[in-house]
Amino acid sequence: MTPTETRAALERLALQPSKAMGQNFLVDRNIAYLIVDAAGLHSEDTVLEIGPGLGALTELMLEHVARVVAVEKDGRLCEFLRERFGQRQQLQLIHADALEFDFVPVAPFKVVANLPYAVATPLLQRLVDSPARPRRMVLTVQREVADRLVAKPRTKDYGALTLFTQLYYEVRREHIISPRCFIPPPAIDSAVVSLRLAPHPLLEPAFEAPFKEYVRAGFGQRRKMLRGVLPKSTTRVAVTVDQVEAALKRVGVLPTARGEELSLAQWLLLTRELVAPAPAEPKQP
Ligand code: SAM
Repeated sequence: MTPTETRAALERLALQPSKAMGQNFLVDRNIAYLIVDAAGLHSEDTVLEIGPGLGALTELMLEHVARVVAVEKDGRLCEFLRERFGQRQQLQLIHADALEFDFVPVAPFKVVANLPYAVATPLLQRLVDSPARPRRMVLTVQREVADRLVAKPRTKDYGALTLFTQLYYEVRREHIISPRCFIPPPAIDSAVVSLRLAPHPLLEPAFEAPFKEYVRAGFGQRRKMLRGVLPKSTTRVAVTVDQVEAALKRVGVLPTARGEELSLAQWLLLTRELVAPAPAEPKQP
């Protein structure tokens, strides 16, 4: 929808966009095309859209895919979308809070969404942790969240969100979007990120929970050394200072390492070493 059409629709609905619900509506059609293109949609796909709003992305996706399941929390926008797309068989519009909605029956699906900023991180985490993990997601989020998703070790943005997402997904930052592309304009830049499910799990299921606990502990006090924080954390596989030091040695990092210094591959190795240490090399006679 153009800026003029968007303003007219909001006026007709007497809808004062809600900041709490992240209601910034996309009015740049080129950006809408870029987002939908990044998802590489096929005619047989089901797409889950969180927060369809006035339908800027929905409209384009309905041209490409078998089914769009659109979950919108604001009842007035649901009414508007019903009027706008009511005759389209492929659209399943659901008036619900995506933070509580059960995605599993929709699977398998891709996700394309301009996420409401206030809940972008918990929504992303819910999708990543879902038993029906989507194979592809293209999400517009605050630029700062995008920076955390693609962050490299030893940077301020690198943390638990980076590792928990990259454990399952290859993440790319595709585009930066100026506030001018939305009505009303948000205070900050946005970014489009694409997430592709890794073809093979990076970690055996039994190690996932301890991995998350160690990472949480390691970044809970990110300036502290792992040998200091991991033994004090309440993880299900308790470790001693000696075990942490021995595991860090096997991972190939200094015993004084902090969580932010380890790459994802090193965190995975560290977890395996702490939970099920490899047997020591036999001593040479
Ligand atoms: N997709 C539209 C677009 O690109 O113009 C709107 C995007 S706007 C950034 C976010 C949308 O998410 C709004 O329509 C808002 O009402 C909706 N929303 C906010 N919180 C939600 C939630 N918890 N569950 C589902 N929808 C939500």
